[in-house]
Amino acid sequence: MRVCFLGLGIMGRPMAANLVKAGHEVSTWNRSSGKDVEGARAAATPRDAAEGAEVVWMCVADTKAVEQVLFGENGVESSLAQGMVVVDSSTISPMTTLNFAKRVRARGAEYVDAPVTGSKIGAEAGQLIFMAGGEEAVLAKLQPLFGVMGKSVFRMGGVSKGQAAKLTMNLQIALIYEGFAEALVLASKLGVDLEALVELIKASMVRSGVVEYKAPFVLRRDFSPNFPLRLMFKDIRLMLDAARETRVKLPGLETVEEIYDLASEEGKGDQDYAATLTLLEKWAGVEVKAKSAS
Ligand code: NAP
Repeated sequence: MRVCFLGLGIMGRPMAANLVKAGHEVSTWNRSSGKDVEGARAAATPRDAAEGAEVVWMCVADTKAVEQVLFGENGVESSLAQGMVVVDSSTISPMTTLNFAKRVRARGAEYVDAPVTGSKIGAEAGQLIFMAGGEEAVLAKLQPLFGVMGKSVFRMGGVSKGQAAKLTMNLQIALIYEGFAEALVLASKLGVDLEALVELIKASMVRSGVVEYKAPFVLRRDFSPNFPLRLMFKDIRLMLDAARETRVKLPGLETVEEIYDLASEEGKGDQDYAATLTLLEKWAGVEVKAKSAS
Protein backbone atom coordinates (compact mmCIF):
# COMPACT_ATOMS: atom_id res chain seq x y z
CA MET A 1 0.00 0.00 0.00
CA ARG A 2 1.03 3.63 -0.39
CA VAL A 3 1.44 4.85 3.18
CA CYS A 4 2.41 8.28 4.45
CA PHE A 5 3.95 8.20 7.94
CA LEU A 6 4.12 11.44 9.93
CA GLY A 7 6.28 11.73 13.04
CA LEU A 8 9.52 9.79 13.37
CA GLY A 9 10.05 9.86 17.12
CA ILE A 10 10.82 6.95 19.48
CA MET A 11 7.70 5.10 18.26
CA GLY A 12 7.09 6.44 14.76
CA ARG A 13 10.49 5.72 13.29
CA PRO A 14 10.52 1.96 13.95
CA MET A 15 6.84 1.73 12.95
CA ALA A 16 7.58 3.36 9.58
CA ALA A 17 10.71 1.23 9.15
CA ASN A 18 8.63 -1.93 9.62
CA LEU A 19 6.23 -0.77 6.90
CA VAL A 20 9.15 -0.27 4.50
CA LYS A 21 10.61 -3.67 5.41
CA ALA A 22 7.26 -5.31 4.58
CA GLY A 23 7.37 -3.81 1.08
CA HIS A 24 4.92 -0.93 1.44
CA GLU A 25 5.60 2.27 -0.48
CA VAL A 26 6.25 4.75 2.34
CA SER A 27 6.62 8.53 2.38
CA THR A 28 7.62 10.22 5.64
CA TRP A 29 7.74 13.62 7.24
CA ASN A 30 9.14 14.74 10.59
CA ARG A 31 8.96 18.25 12.07
CA SER A 32 12.68 18.58 12.66
CA SER A 33 15.16 17.44 10.06
CA GLY A 34 17.69 14.66 10.46
CA LYS A 35 15.18 11.90 11.17
CA ASP A 36 14.43 9.64 8.23
CA VAL A 37 13.79 6.03 7.38
CA GLU A 38 15.90 4.11 4.89
CA GLY A 39 13.90 3.11 1.83
CA ALA A 40 11.16 5.73 2.42
CA ARG A 41 10.67 9.01 0.55
CA ALA A 42 11.32 11.93 2.91
CA ALA A 43 8.88 14.76 2.11
CA ALA A 44 9.25 18.45 2.94
CA THR A 45 5.77 18.91 4.41
CA PRO A 46 2.90 16.75 5.72
CA ARG A 47 0.90 17.82 2.67
CA ASP A 48 3.60 16.58 0.24
CA ALA A 49 4.03 13.35 2.17
CA ALA A 50 0.28 12.66 2.07
CA GLU A 51 -0.15 13.44 -1.64
CA GLY A 52 -1.33 10.28 -3.43
CA ALA A 53 -1.17 8.11 -0.28
CA GLU A 54 -3.91 5.57 0.47
CA VAL A 55 -3.29 5.79 4.19
CA VAL A 56 -1.89 8.64 6.30
CA TRP A 57 -0.52 7.32 9.61
CA MET A 58 0.47 9.71 12.41
CA CYS A 59 2.50 9.16 15.55
CA VAL A 60 3.31 12.57 17.00
CA ALA A 61 3.58 13.94 20.52
CA ASP A 62 0.20 15.36 21.51
CA THR A 63 -3.19 16.81 20.53
CA LYS A 64 -1.69 20.09 19.33
CA ALA A 65 0.86 18.27 17.17
CA VAL A 66 -1.88 16.20 15.48
CA GLU A 67 -3.86 19.37 14.83
CA GLN A 68 -0.85 21.08 13.25
CA VAL A 69 0.04 18.06 11.10
CA LEU A 70 -3.52 17.68 9.84
CA PHE A 71 -4.83 21.22 9.63
CA GLY A 72 -1.86 23.58 10.06
CA GLU A 73 0.08 25.33 7.33
CA ASN A 74 1.08 22.72 4.70
CA GLY A 75 -0.95 20.17 6.64
CA VAL A 76 -2.44 16.93 5.37
CA GLU A 77 -5.95 18.41 4.92
CA SER A 78 -5.46 19.74 1.39
CA SER A 79 -4.11 16.35 0.19
CA LEU A 80 -7.08 14.39 1.52
CA ALA A 81 -9.20 12.62 -1.08
CA GLN A 82 -12.16 10.27 -1.23
CA GLY A 83 -11.29 6.79 0.08
CA MET A 84 -8.12 7.78 1.95
CA VAL A 85 -7.80 6.74 5.59
CA VAL A 86 -6.19 8.86 8.30
CA VAL A 87 -4.92 6.87 11.29
CA ASP A 88 -3.67 8.40 14.53
CA SER A 89 -1.36 6.34 16.74
CA SER A 90 -0.47 9.29 18.95
CA THR A 91 -2.11 9.41 22.39
CA ILE A 92 -4.37 12.45 22.38
CA SER A 93 -7.69 13.79 23.66
CA PRO A 94 -10.68 11.55 22.83
CA MET A 95 -13.00 14.60 22.61
CA THR A 96 -10.74 16.44 20.17
CA THR A 97 -10.34 13.22 18.17
CA LEU A 98 -14.07 13.37 17.38
CA ASN A 99 -13.61 16.88 16.08
CA PHE A 100 -10.59 15.92 13.94
CA ALA A 101 -12.52 12.95 12.51
CA LYS A 102 -15.40 15.24 11.54
CA ARG A 103 -13.08 17.59 9.67
CA VAL A 104 -11.31 14.71 7.91
CA ARG A 105 -14.62 13.11 6.89
CA ALA A 106 -15.76 16.43 5.43
CA ARG A 107 -12.98 15.87 2.87
CA GLY A 108 -14.22 12.37 1.98
CA ALA A 109 -11.56 10.49 3.95
CA GLU A 110 -12.03 8.06 6.83
CA TYR A 111 -10.60 8.46 10.34
CA VAL A 112 -9.35 5.85 12.78
CA ASP A 113 -7.76 6.43 16.18
CA ALA A 114 -5.31 3.63 16.88
CA PRO A 115 -3.05 4.44 19.83
CA VAL A 116 -0.57 1.78 20.88
CA THR A 117 0.88 0.01 23.83
CA GLY A 118 4.18 -1.86 23.81
CA SER A 119 6.72 0.96 24.08
CA LYS A 120 9.91 1.33 22.05
CA ILE A 121 10.76 -2.38 22.24
CA GLY A 122 7.33 -3.37 20.90
CA ALA A 123 7.58 -0.81 18.09
CA GLU A 124 11.00 -2.08 17.02
CA ALA A 125 9.90 -5.72 17.08
CA GLY A 126 6.60 -5.09 15.23
CA GLN A 127 4.84 -6.33 18.37
CA LEU A 128 2.68 -3.35 19.30
CA ILE A 129 -0.88 -3.73 20.51
CA PHE A 130 -3.28 -1.31 18.84
CA MET A 131 -6.53 -0.20 20.49
CA ALA A 132 -8.65 1.17 17.70
CA GLY A 133 -11.72 3.34 17.28
CA GLY A 134 -13.44 3.37 13.90
CA GLU A 135 -15.65 1.52 11.46
CA GLU A 136 -15.07 -2.23 11.27
CA ALA A 137 -14.77 -2.14 7.46
CA VAL A 138 -12.11 0.56 7.62
CA LEU A 139 -10.14 -1.36 10.23
CA ALA A 140 -10.28 -4.43 7.99
CA LYS A 141 -8.69 -2.40 5.16
CA LEU A 142 -5.85 -1.46 7.50
CA GLN A 143 -5.13 -5.02 8.60
CA PRO A 144 -2.06 -5.47 6.34
CA LEU A 145 -0.50 -2.43 8.03
CA PHE A 146 -1.55 -3.29 11.57
CA GLY A 147 -0.13 -6.78 11.00
CA VAL A 148 3.32 -5.44 10.13
CA MET A 149 3.62 -3.00 13.04
CA GLY A 150 1.84 -4.95 15.72
CA LYS A 151 0.76 -8.30 17.06
CA SER A 152 -2.89 -7.49 17.74
CA VAL A 153 -5.64 -4.96 17.22
CA PHE A 154 -8.50 -4.50 19.66
CA ARG A 155 -11.49 -2.60 18.30
CA MET A 156 -12.81 -0.59 21.23
CA GLY A 157 -15.80 0.96 19.41
CA GLY A 158 -16.35 3.94 17.12
CA VAL A 159 -13.95 6.84 16.56
CA SER A 160 -12.34 8.16 19.79
CA LYS A 161 -12.87 4.94 21.76
CA GLY A 162 -9.30 3.82 21.04
CA GLN A 163 -8.02 7.03 22.66
CA ALA A 164 -10.44 6.65 25.56
CA ALA A 165 -9.26 3.08 26.17
CA LYS A 166 -5.62 4.14 25.90
CA LEU A 167 -6.07 6.70 28.69
CA THR A 168 -7.50 4.04 30.98
CA MET A 169 -4.56 1.74 30.15
CA ASN A 170 -1.95 4.38 30.95
CA LEU A 171 -3.82 5.30 34.12
CA GLN A 172 -3.11 1.76 35.33
CA ILE A 173 0.51 1.84 34.17
CA ALA A 174 1.15 5.10 36.04
CA LEU A 175 -0.42 3.77 39.25
CA ILE A 176 1.17 0.30 39.06
CA TYR A 177 4.60 1.82 38.49
CA GLU A 178 4.07 4.28 41.34
CA GLY A 179 3.19 1.35 43.63
CA PHE A 180 6.34 -0.48 42.55
CA ALA A 181 8.51 2.61 43.03
CA GLU A 182 7.11 3.27 46.52
CA ALA A 183 7.65 -0.39 47.44
CA LEU A 184 11.27 -0.23 46.26
CA VAL A 185 11.99 2.88 48.32
CA LEU A 186 10.45 1.45 51.47
CA ALA A 187 12.16 -1.91 50.89
CA SER A 188 15.53 -0.14 50.50
CA LYS A 189 15.00 1.68 53.79
CA LEU A 190 14.09 -1.61 55.47
CA GLY A 191 17.22 -3.27 54.10
CA VAL A 192 15.50 -5.77 51.78
CA ASP A 193 17.56 -7.27 48.92
CA LEU A 194 15.85 -5.70 45.92
CA GLU A 195 16.69 -8.43 43.43
CA ALA A 196 15.15 -10.97 45.80
CA LEU A 197 12.11 -8.71 46.14
CA VAL A 198 11.65 -8.55 42.36
CA GLU A 199 11.84 -12.35 42.15
CA LEU A 200 9.24 -12.58 44.92
CA ILE A 201 6.95 -10.16 43.07
CA LYS A 202 7.28 -12.16 39.85
CA ALA A 203 6.37 -15.40 41.65
CA SER A 204 3.34 -13.96 43.41
CA MET A 205 -0.01 -12.40 42.52
CA VAL A 206 1.66 -8.98 42.76
CA ARG A 207 3.42 -9.64 39.45
CA SER A 208 2.65 -7.38 36.48
CA GLY A 209 3.90 -6.66 32.99
CA VAL A 210 4.82 -3.16 34.12
CA VAL A 211 7.10 -4.44 36.89
CA GLU A 212 8.66 -7.14 34.69
CA TYR A 213 9.44 -4.57 32.01
CA LYS A 214 10.67 -1.80 34.29
CA ALA A 215 12.50 -3.68 37.06
CA PRO A 216 15.73 -4.43 35.10
CA PHE A 217 16.03 -0.78 34.01
CA VAL A 218 15.33 0.59 37.49
CA LEU A 219 17.68 -1.81 39.31
CA ARG A 220 20.57 -0.70 37.10
CA ARG A 221 19.39 2.93 37.33
CA ASP A 222 18.90 3.30 33.60
CA PHE A 223 16.38 6.09 33.15
CA SER A 224 17.00 6.63 29.43
CA PRO A 225 13.64 7.18 27.73
CA ASN A 226 11.57 4.28 26.46
CA PHE A 227 8.45 6.23 27.35
CA PRO A 228 9.49 9.78 28.28
CA LEU A 229 8.14 11.20 31.54
CA ARG A 230 6.87 14.31 29.67
CA LEU A 231 4.57 12.07 27.57
CA MET A 232 3.18 10.12 30.55
CA PHE A 233 2.60 13.50 32.26
CA LYS A 234 0.71 14.64 29.14
CA ASP A 235 -1.40 11.46 29.34
CA ILE A 236 -2.11 11.94 33.06
CA ARG A 237 -3.41 15.42 32.29
CA LEU A 238 -5.60 13.96 29.50
CA MET A 239 -6.97 11.39 31.98
CA LEU A 240 -7.77 14.07 34.55
CA ASP A 241 -9.42 16.24 31.86
CA ALA A 242 -11.56 13.27 30.80
CA ALA A 243 -12.41 12.59 34.45
CA ARG A 244 -13.48 16.20 34.99
CA GLU A 245 -15.61 16.13 31.82
CA THR A 246 -17.37 12.97 33.00
CA ARG A 247 -17.49 13.91 36.72
CA VAL A 248 -15.26 11.06 37.85
CA LYS A 249 -12.95 11.43 40.87
CA LEU A 250 -9.44 9.93 40.55
CA PRO A 251 -7.73 10.65 43.89
CA GLY A 252 -4.78 8.28 43.37
CA LEU A 253 -3.99 9.76 39.99
CA GLU A 254 -4.27 13.33 41.34
CA THR A 255 -1.47 12.55 43.80
CA VAL A 256 0.64 10.91 41.11
CA GLU A 257 0.16 13.99 38.92
CA GLU A 258 1.84 16.09 41.61
CA ILE A 259 4.88 13.81 41.50
CA TYR A 260 5.09 14.18 37.70
CA ASP A 261 4.72 17.93 38.08
CA LEU A 262 7.64 18.11 40.53
CA ALA A 263 9.74 15.73 38.43
CA SER A 264 9.14 17.94 35.39
CA GLU A 265 10.17 21.02 37.39
CA GLU A 266 13.37 19.18 38.26
CA GLY A 267 14.10 18.79 34.53
CA LYS A 268 13.36 15.05 34.28
CA GLY A 269 10.83 15.34 31.44
CA ASP A 270 13.07 13.74 28.82
CA GLN A 271 14.01 10.80 31.05
CA ASP A 272 11.83 7.70 31.26
CA TYR A 273 8.77 8.01 33.53
CA ALA A 274 10.54 5.48 35.75
CA ALA A 275 12.62 8.46 36.92
CA THR A 276 9.68 9.56 39.11
CA LEU A 277 11.33 7.10 41.54
CA THR A 278 14.16 9.57 42.11
CA LEU A 279 11.80 12.01 43.84
CA LEU A 280 10.66 9.34 46.27
CA GLU A 281 14.31 8.49 46.89
CA LYS A 282 15.15 12.11 47.61
CA TRP A 283 12.28 12.47 50.08
CA ALA A 284 13.31 9.22 51.81
CA GLY A 285 17.06 9.91 51.68
CA VAL A 286 17.84 6.56 50.09
CA GLU A 287 18.99 5.26 46.70
CA VAL A 288 17.33 2.22 45.14
CA LYS A 289 20.02 -0.08 43.77
CA ALA A 290 20.49 -3.78 43.18
CA LYS A 291 23.29 -5.34 45.28
CA SER A 292 24.85 -6.68 42.08
CA ALA A 293 24.99 -3.15 40.63
CA SER A 294 27.00 -1.70 43.56
P1 NAP B 1 8.78 11.35 20.78
O1 NAP B 1 9.95 10.46 20.59
O2 NAP B 1 8.85 12.52 21.66
O3 NAP B 1 8.33 11.84 19.30
C1 NAP B 1 7.34 12.80 19.14
C2 NAP B 1 7.18 13.08 17.67
O4 NAP B 1 6.19 14.12 17.52
C3 NAP B 1 8.46 13.60 17.01
O5 NAP B 1 8.49 13.15 15.68
C4 NAP B 1 8.22 15.12 17.06
O6 NAP B 1 8.95 15.82 16.09
C5 NAP B 1 6.74 15.19 16.76
N1 NAP B 1 6.14 16.45 17.17
C6 NAP B 1 6.10 16.99 18.42
N2 NAP B 1 5.43 18.16 18.39
C7 NAP B 1 5.05 18.37 17.10
C8 NAP B 1 4.32 19.38 16.45
N3 NAP B 1 3.85 20.45 17.12
N4 NAP B 1 4.10 19.26 15.13
C9 NAP B 1 4.56 18.18 14.46
N5 NAP B 1 5.27 17.19 15.00
C10 NAP B 1 5.49 17.27 16.33
O7 NAP B 1 7.48 10.52 21.24
P2 NAP B 1 7.13 8.98 21.05
O8 NAP B 1 7.62 8.24 22.25
O9 NAP B 1 7.48 8.53 19.68
O10 NAP B 1 5.54 9.07 21.21
C11 NAP B 1 4.67 9.47 20.13
C12 NAP B 1 3.23 9.30 20.59
O11 NAP B 1 3.01 7.92 20.93
C13 NAP B 1 2.88 10.11 21.84
O12 NAP B 1 1.55 10.58 21.75
C14 NAP B 1 3.02 9.10 22.97
O13 NAP B 1 2.23 9.44 24.08
C15 NAP B 1 2.56 7.83 22.28
N6 NAP B 1 3.11 6.59 22.86
C16 NAP B 1 4.43 6.47 23.19
C17 NAP B 1 4.91 5.28 23.73
C18 NAP B 1 6.34 5.10 24.15
O14 NAP B 1 6.61 4.11 24.85
N7 NAP B 1 7.28 5.94 23.76
C19 NAP B 1 4.04 4.21 23.92
C20 NAP B 1 2.71 4.34 23.56
C21 NAP B 1 2.25 5.54 23.02
P3 NAP B 1 10.46 16.33 16.40
O15 NAP B 1 11.35 15.19 16.02
O16 NAP B 1 10.61 17.53 15.54
O17 NAP B 1 10.52 16.66 17.88
